[in-house]
Amino acid sequence: MTKVKIGLEVHAELTTKTKLFCGCSSAWQGKRPNTNCCPTCLGLPGSKPRVNEKAIEYGIKIGLALNCRFPKETFFSRKSYFYPDMSKNFQITQYEIPLAMKGYVMLDKKKIGIRRIHLEEDPARLVHSGGSIAAARYVLIDYNRSGVPLCEIVTEPDFESPKEARMFLQKLSSILEYLNVYDSLLEGSMRVDANISIDGGERVEIKNISGFKQVEKALTYEIIRQVNMKKRGRKIVQETRGFDPVANVTILQRTKEFESEYGYIFEPDLTRIEIKNLNKIKKELPELPDKKLKRYSKIVKKEIAESLISDPQIADMFDVLSKRFDPHLVGIWLSGPLKKTLNYNNLRLKDTKIKTEHMERFFRAIEEKKITDMMGEMILREMVKSPKKIEELGTDFTRIDDEGSIKEFVRTALAENPKAVLEYKSGKVEVFEFLVGQAMKKSKGRADPKIIRKVLEEMI
Ligand code: ZN
Ligand code: MN
Repeated sequence: MTKVKIGLEVHAELTTKTKLFCGCSSAWQGKRPNTNCCPTCLGLPGSKPRVNEKAIEYGIKIGLALNCRFPKETFFSRKSYFYPDMSKNFQITQYEIPLAMKGYVMLDKKKIGIRRIHLEEDPARLVHSGGSIAAARYVLIDYNRSGVPLCEIVTEPDFESPKEARMFLQKLSSILEYLNVYDSLLEGSMRVDANISIDGGERVEIKNISGFKQVEKALTYEIIRQVNMKKRGRKIVQETRGFDPVANVTILQRTKEFESEYGYIFEPDLTRIEIKNLNKIKKELPELPDKKLKRYSKIVKKEIAESLISDPQIADMFDVLSKRFDPHLVGIWLSGPLKKTLNYNNLRLKDTKIKTEHMERFFRAIEEKKITDMMGEMILREMVKSPKKIEELGTDFTRIDDEGSIKEFVRTALAENPKAVLEYKSGKVEVFEFLVGQAMKKSKGRADPKIIRKVLEEMI
């Protein structure tokens, strides 16, 4: 058996309002290139950085959530290297004393060590014409992203398979979203460097992979490559590789540089940062996914609990509504039809205008049997699309149970489907359910299905 050892360096973009060392907006996505910058984040001579206190606070929150220890004070350093995405020729980062260290995350029953957490500035974004470095004839630089706060989370090499690495990243992403310091749906919001060695050999680093599945794929490929190298009697050397998600292979970029080559020096334009208010920040931390899952699993089925916690806003809503209505009912609707509709539209609850009070009206209508399950699903679909519909809840969506109206729906359904009627009469009984469905459609999902069946039997 090949023994695999994997460690991760995760870069997560923090969602502070402004960048790490200047007043420019951190929301760089979707803006015209090079319109979201100033002398500081362009690294012009004479410009001076100033630390964004919010970013420090976010970093502390992450450290606390990942069970880290903190130094009394920390500082920033310059990491020198040349690359066109970094106009100063150095990145302001933390090296000697990180913001937090020696933490852990539980992956089921396995403890994954967190070696260190530090803050640093994001470089500018390079856009290769033709999509890849190999195909590019020229490169464009967009400094809008330059200076956005990154939180780098470095794990111990505790993962023994690519799948474990992916599971960790999913969990980490969920924790960061609960802390409200990060947005997983933003472009490039999480970038991962993964280092991997097999059977105690040299470690190879795969740089800059985005997406959990891509990390798993890159690592899986790398294991196969290294095993094959060994089989052929070739030596695995310490090197840096990139991942090509289209060809699904890792590609040699350069032989590994060592940390000492970066010539770290203390950043003289910034002062030391005292780590304070730890207890105050700790008290303000929200309930994290693990604890929530435990609590929910006592009230609803585990699968439902897992689905509820995957969206922090849905979990919040569940907390309020499960106290007023049957928790099972609320759990099933929020984790099922609501999430299905959100996923279908590629939205999270916070991207819609649905508020808890809207869902309260919804559940009251369900409880009082004013709406059928099918109507419920239709209403949720409408609510996700246009919140206006919520106001119409109760008029447009009242359940229809008078036989007179239902007879009309059935009559139209029969008239419009003569072939199905013939089939039914010639013995194909399963067509009955199809006709029930057609009549239900005519009522826009509002008719009582029991009455439809009764009327249909009489009329066919
Ligand atoms: Zn700026
Ligand atoms: Mn870094």
